[in-house]
Amino acid sequence: MRSDYVTSYYAASAHPAPERSSLAGRVDCDVCVVGAGIAGCSSALHLAERGLSVVLLEEHRVGWGASGRSGAQAIPGVAAGQAKLNRMLGPATARQVWEVSVEGLALMRELIARFRIDCDWVDGHMLTAVKARHERELQAELAELRDQYDYSGVHYLPREELRALLATDRYIGALYDTNGAHLHPLNYTLGLAAAAEQLGVRIFESTRALSFGAQGAERVRVATAHGEVRARFLVLCGNVYLGATAPELRDKIMAVATYIVATEPLGGDRARQLIANNAAVADVNWVLDYFRRSADHRLLFGGRVNYSGLRTFDAPGATRARMLRVFPQLRDVRIEYAWGGDVDITLNRAPHFGRLAPNVYFLQGFSGHGIALTGIAGKLVAEAVSGTAARFDVFARIPHANFPGGAAMRRPALVLAMLWYRLRDLL
Ligand SMILES: Cc1cc2nc3c(=O)[nH]c(=O)nc-3n(C[C@H](O)[C@H](O)[C@H](O)COP(=O)(O)OP(=O)(O)OC[C@H]3O[C@@H](n4cnc5c(N)ncnc54)[C@H](O)[C@@H]3O)c2cc1C
Repeated sequence: MRSDYVTSYYAASAHPAPERSSLAGRVDCDVCVVGAGIAGCSSALHLAERGLSVVLLEEHRVGWGASGRSGAQAIPGVAAGQAKLNRMLGPATARQVWEVSVEGLALMRELIARFRIDCDWVDGHMLTAVKARHERELQAELAELRDQYDYSGVHYLPREELRALLATDRYIGALYDTNGAHLHPLNYTLGLAAAAEQLGVRIFESTRALSFGAQGAERVRVATAHGEVRARFLVLCGNVYLGATAPELRDKIMAVATYIVATEPLGGDRARQLIANNAAVADVNWVLDYFRRSADHRLLFGGRVNYSGLRTFDAPGATRARMLRVFPQLRDVRIEYAWGGDVDITLNRAPHFGRLAPNVYFLQGFSGHGIALTGIAGKLVAEAVSGTAARFDVFARIPHANFPGGAAMRRPALVLAMLWYRLRDLL
């Protein structure tokens, strides 16, 4: 059964998109892709570009999941951070991961230009420090980015300079990355899907991939409620919603809910007063606040995570309270939209890419840091399916453990772990 988009600012401002039919009967193709978020749409697009016939299955609508609800701050790197990757993988591999992620931003710019995707792209990202410890961390990160990664376009904004750009006293400095950006994530995902269709991809909505299995030595059969896809390759991009379709992947990620509120339109002047350079902003806390202006002059503010899995607490109220902690001057402003979505965190916060069989690939574990990485991940999967797996395998070799505690205990264990990190934010 199709679920329409959750009510959000993005759904309300989405460009018209066709409602694709569900799959009925059998289709044959080179590659079946499951999940039409950015990862799935980008995989499909890049596979089609290489001349492969592609079928993309989406249980709900294109961009229904995290990709259509995201804070949409496009930033390089991975959620684990480069220092951790260095320790885990060694400097050479950590650098390869970094370079792919930077290419991810360039790829977004290229796709948006090439396919004329109208998605409110704005350059600029600021990572802010709330306390002296954060400032030291950001200075160390800046030195690392410049010295070890030759990453230019990033500089430190001391308090006074930052205060001229951001109308809040909460932050004492920021790392300003001119290469980072923000955008309308649902319109971007819809644009990628339309581009993939231009290249011949067949997209079926309201179609859940229920299961898959080998069909002879070299083919895979994907079962849906009213049909099946037979393909040479399968690419799983279902993120936290994949569930029982691929139980082997489930224990490596945990769904963590995060929430965003959108204010009523503030008018150009008032919006510009809040964030003068129109950059996206996030702080460096573990439970972080992230916010930006929208094209129609709202503030979009995300700032609450829920590790418990309980949906009963007042997420819009809690998120608004966090917004007012940053911008108390918005007390009179009405919240017009509030929505949430799940991010797919891995235990080590590194992305989880790999194969379940020689012809079954998967992309998951973006850990809340997937807007840019999902797109380039789709390109890496297309390279691998076409026989050049070197870049995909850099990621596929990253080791991942299951969340401890088994099905019953893993969420309580995570809640305890997160309590520790939240306490650390307060120090
Ligand atoms: C509220 C929120 C804020 C975020 N903010 C940021 C941010 O500021 N910056 C950043 O970099 N990242 C952010 N993220 C994370 C980022 O949005 C995600 O990493 C990224 O969008 C994941 O894309 P995806 O394609 O892997 O998954 P999704 O977009 O979730 O797509 C998966 C799709 O697969 C479909 N599906 C699943 N199983 C099946 C099946 N069996 N059959 C058919 N279809 C199936 C689902 O319906 C869904 O549409 C945020 C996420 C959320 C939720």
